[in-house]
Amino acid sequence: MHPAIPRLIDLQTIDLKIAGLRAQLEAFPKRIMALDHKLTDARAAVASAKEAHVNSAKERKKFELDVEQWKERARKYRDQSGSVKTNEAYKALQHEIANAEAEVAKAEDRQLELMMGSEEIDGRMRHADADLKEAEASVAADRKEIEVQYGAKKKELAAATAEREKAVAPIPADMVTLYDRIAKRHNGHALAQVKDGQCKGCGLRVLPHILQLLTEDHDDEEVFRCESCGLILYSLEPLTAVNPDATSGNAASVTTT
Ligand SMILES: [Zn+2]
Repeated sequence: MHPAIPRLIDLQTIDLKIAGLRAQLEAFPKRIMALDHKLTDARAAVASAKEAHVNSAKERKKFELDVEQWKERARKYRDQSGSVKTNEAYKALQHEIANAEAEVAKAEDRQLELMMGSEEIDGRMRHADADLKEAEASVAADRKEIEVQYGAKKKELAAATAEREKAVAPIPADMVTLYDRIAKRHNGHALAQVKDGQCKGCGLRVLPHILQLLTEDHDDEEVFRCESCGLILYSLEPLTAVNPDATSGNAASVTTT
């Protein structure tokens, strides 16, 4: 095994942890935004209920005035009907009175409808207010919790970054370059363990003589990469675990240069 491989394995573990922490940190603004949305929605519901309440009150006022106006007109026609000279004029006034009374009834009906509707609107307002209060409380608590989590993840990331600096320092520069290049292409993975004679990166069977070289305890400068997935191979198993019948598949050997 290349002497740098145990250090590269550690480095990969740290790098995967760093990548995981970064992904988690990137998700935080979205979580805060979701909280803001919750508040915006609750506030919009309150505003809309209030608007409905104001409009309903305005309409009720309008029909109230209509009722008064039509009643006033009917009264006027009735007063006039006592002093008309002709039967025709009297009939015409009676017709106007009936019309005005019908308008009064219509406006009163609308008033009643609005009154009944206003109960529902008042209920809506109460609900929206209660929902907003609840949302404000839960959002404040969630925000605090998220901020605590964010701070903790930031600290973990700082620690992991420091750990990486320490881990990478003793590794030869050419090995780090190779590692970085492979890791970039494989979602942070540069090394694959060989287990039961197979590359754990892709499942390809590793040739017996490569397996032997991987498991032997000598510090040569050769690095073996899987021919299929390209990851740097390493083995933590004793040689006896190898299936001697394995004949398919192969692995190429490359040097770091
Ligand atoms: Zn592979």
